[in-house]
Amino acid sequence: MPDVTQSPTIASNPEIQRLRLAHEASTRLNASTDPVIVARELARLAAKACDCPAVVLRLDTENDRLLPVPDRELTGFSDEPILLDDFPNIADWFDGTARLLHAETVTPRSFSALIRAMGVPSAVAVPLTLTGSIPLIGAILLALDNVSQVKPLNGVIEVAAVALRNAIHHARVVEQLSAKTRELDLQRRIDRELNDKMKQDRIFELTVDWAMRVSLAHGATLALYDQNNDALRYALDLGYDVDPAKIDMLRHEVGSGIAHRVARSGHTEVIPDVSVDQDYIELNSAIKSHMSVPVMRDDVVIAVISVESRRLNAFSDDHVDMIEKLATRAGVAIDNTRLYADAVREREKYSLILGAISDLVLAIGPDERVIQINPAAMSALRLYADREYVGEPFGTVLEESPLHEAFKRIKAMGQPAIEEIRLADGHVYHANFTPHPQIGWIIVMHDINEFKQMDQMKSELVATVSHDLRQPLMVMTGYVDLLALNSSVDERGERYLKMLTRSIHTMRRLIEDLLDLAKIERGMQLNIEPVSAAKMIEECMENARPAADVKQMTLTHEIADDMPKIAGDANRLVQIFNNLIMNAIKYTPPEGKVRVWAEQHDNMLRIGVQDNGVGISPPDQARIFEVFYRVRNAENESIEGTGLGLAIVKRLVEAHKGQIGLESRIGQGSTFTVTLPIASAESAAAPVIDLTPTEGQTKSADL
Ligand code: ADP
Repeated sequence: MPDVTQSPTIASNPEIQRLRLAHEASTRLNASTDPVIVARELARLAAKACDCPAVVLRLDTENDRLLPVPDRELTGFSDEPILLDDFPNIADWFDGTARLLHAETVTPRSFSALIRAMGVPSAVAVPLTLTGSIPLIGAILLALDNVSQVKPLNGVIEVAAVALRNAIHHARVVEQLSAKTRELDLQRRIDRELNDKMKQDRIFELTVDWAMRVSLAHGATLALYDQNNDALRYALDLGYDVDPAKIDMLRHEVGSGIAHRVARSGHTEVIPDVSVDQDYIELNSAIKSHMSVPVMRDDVVIAVISVESRRLNAFSDDHVDMIEKLATRAGVAIDNTRLYADAVREREKYSLILGAISDLVLAIGPDERVIQINPAAMSALRLYADREYVGEPFGTVLEESPLHEAFKRIKAMGQPAIEEIRLADGHVYHANFTPHPQIGWIIVMHDINEFKQMDQMKSELVATVSHDLRQPLMVMTGYVDLLALNSSVDERGERYLKMLTRSIHTMRRLIEDLLDLAKIERGMQLNIEPVSAAKMIEECMENARPAADVKQMTLTHEIADDMPKIAGDANRLVQIFNNLIMNAIKYTPPEGKVRVWAEQHDNMLRIGVQDNGVGISPPDQARIFEVFYRVRNAENESIEGTGLGLAIVKRLVEAHKGQIGLESRIGQGSTFTVTLPIASAESAAAPVIDLTPTEGQTKSADL
């Protein structure tokens, strides 16, 4: 097949040439979206088609001007835009016809300069129009002297107009997009920088700096406004070479000026010419225009940003927009610094308080991380003063401290609790664990070491005195017994002797109890072995039976022989239940009932001693296990006792790693429950346990 394009006859056919040109135009002009490249390609195509220099003028509708692009380097060519205002015949272009323009006569002058640069006296201008809404896209200027010579361009104009319009449109969209992106990026940078810094001075500096940058101003200031006192104080100025005295004056207080006006009104003001504004305060004589923007927070003006320029009318709507956006951000940042400063002040105050108190204070988050440790706690816990523990897991900070052990236990229960804990500094603390909905846990620990030592001394004194009282008491008992045998003692004397015997008996019990308590508190050895609850309770019942019989009371127990055995010291267990059963008999009116039962709870055995006696009121229940505490009421008045029994019982139960509980109603009776561990293989293998009381298990005795 012959090459059509190479055939001279066919190739010179004008119709074929027109088609070839239209094809070339649509492929080459649509290859780019850059209006300058499209215009240059079009100029080249037109120059080639008409065989003469060509210049393409593209219309910039945004700025009402024509932008010339030549097909090649032209000497004397200027790509100065041709403003449409200077082009009175623009309406002629709208009919879409080509016209001949003479360099001599055409206006504006830039247009004639263009024709001359093409090296010709006249040129044909072909408008690039679209049949549709936009009448003119641009024009092609060809160095021809006859309108008919542009014929080869028929069929290209439409394609060229579409390509150029698309490219211009595309460029505009890209321009808008990139402007928006730049603005967003700018705002982000402002945000980042402003919010990064919590120092107020730095925020002011950044704000003023950004204000100058975005408005291309020559000088900028930031003044803080106190609405309550209507006082505006300059905080910072940038770009001025001002007399320090003047700035000093401005820093102190200003009651006038444009910024002050804006502070009062809360509205931005743009002053294109400062010379006509009577409120204007001159910082520099070269300044011509001014803009002040209020910085608001919660509808209150807190500052004013002012920018100034050496040019008249230097600030556009865009600048207003940018500075207002900056003001919004600065408002947030200034407010944040204020809040931050307040928070820092509060924290410092709080730290001072925490630092000054001798109690140990710790706050632990719900995630078990340290929120706060005061200096007293740091020192008692032997933590490094210069290390930051906040944010670290409590368990890592304290490792195997008894405080952490207690915390884990109490946290698992989820209830406030008080424990005595001995810390690494050797002191015993009264530790108060309180759950807090917002914080997690607050631990306040009070040093009770001194009290503990006094307590210890008291216990020792009581033990010694009690011990020393034993001997004279024995002598007294002996002589009373001798006297009782003496037949010369009359009836009255016998009554006195009975009273003496009772009193000696009470004293002996008191001394025994005191000595026992002192022994338990000093620490004792429990001979732990598997003990049958049924047998042990049986023994206690036997001990109590005479007393029960005197009062005609029913004494029963419901403990099966096959109940698991308790891990305990048999003698001490008997002591515990003797006490509880005897109390039940003592504090129950005649013919009452005492019932002992047992039930298993996992690896614990709970034994209950239940009576239908006088009962104990809730306030008394709370104190019943205290040393020497006795309930004072009419029913109990005639009942003898020392108030030591339950205190000893509680300590013994806890020494067995058990718990004691009480349920009681006045007039209905009481149930004391003792929960004790069930014997395991190990408890049988390791029978002796040293039970020096551990803090946290033993409450101090108020002896
Ligand atoms: P006391 O030597 O006075 O019996 P305890 O320490 O054993 O001392 O008991 C303290 C107080 O508790 C008693 O004085 C009594 O008021 C009360 N109490 C103990 N057991 C019972 C009970 N089963 N029923 C009613 N009150 C009781």
